[in-house]
Amino acid sequence: EQARRTRRSAALFNPSEYGDPGGNLSLISELMAALRNGEFSLAYQPKYDFRAEGITGVEALARWTHPRRGVVPPDLFVGMAEETGHIRPLTEWVIRRAIVDQRALAAAGHDILMSVNISGRLLTDETFAEEVLAAITESGARLCFEITETAVMDNSERALAMIGRFKDAGVCVSLDDYGSGLSSLAYLKRIPADELKIDKAFVMGMDKSSRDALLVKSTIDLAHGLGLRITAEGVESPTTLALLRGMGCDMAQGFLIGRPKPLHALIERLNGPAGLSTTAAA
Ligand code: C2E
Ligand code: MG
Ligand code: MG
Ligand code: MG
Repeated sequence: EQARRTRRSAALFNPSEYGDPGGNLSLISELMAALRNGEFSLAYQPKYDFRAEGITGVEALARWTHPRRGVVPPDLFVGMAEETGHIRPLTEWVIRRAIVDQRALAAAGHDILMSVNISGRLLTDETFAEEVLAAITESGARLCFEITETAVMDNSERALAMIGRFKDAGVCVSLDDYGSGLSSLAYLKRIPADELKIDKAFVMGMDKSSRDALLVKSTIDLAHGLGLRITAEGVESPTTLALLRGMGCDMAQGFLIGRPKPLHALIERLNGPAGLSTTAAA
């Protein structure tokens, strides 16, 4: 997966295409300049709360609007940012933006929990912790960190200690893409998570495959047994949504509920009628 990602990224950022025959123009300089030049933005995807019957949270997803390429999805730049040591400035930018936008949402009358994706390698980065803990304490922001499990596996003692510090600051911890990759029960046992997000690979198929549905159901029961809230990602059909409700799932996220959208579109959505009847059309 990593190799594929890097290959795609390398193809996208072929330096020769930028009139840089020496090949000096690196993604590193492009990414830093792009951050300064306002080429990055956040798209917010709503999370539907079955019990509250409404949107109570959103996931902030990074978007890079490249001047020539248009919108570049994060799969193409997150991996490279990680490899070149640029995931910290990117993530700090994301968190600062999410905090500002959470305040804008509050001003518009919407109390919304903001989820941000945190690359596992940042969980051992002391500078990151200092910066972000200060930003959270100053703003009183309500954040949730979505962590993918592969990441926390390396350097687990330091990562666990840092997770503890974020939790003390009121940050909720979510295990992203659960069930894919290197999922293990050991990981579930070790991380003091508040939420588990079951990978869309299982959710997207559950209206067609009873095996997928069974895997989702067992994961919901497992999460609840451990006292965790569970979110299903990749909810694309009304059948899937109904199945999840029947299984006692807590939250649903996916194209059926709403696509990732800019802040103003999110506010319009939240200002509209509550509930799901509007959402299928959104
Ligand atoms: P993720 O955290 O698992 O985010 C969910 C991804 O699934 C998003 O893709 C979202 O657009 C997509 N998705 C949501 N609902 C559906 C659905 O119903 N069907 C389908 N087919 N897809 C759906 P996106 O925005 O391309 O992000 C991809 C990944 O990039 C994210 O996966 C996350 O791991 C990473 N990412 C995004 N923003 C950031 C960031 O700021 N920092 C870091 N470290 N990673 C980020
Ligand atoms: Mg996520
Ligand atoms: Mg995910
Ligand atoms: Mg993912």
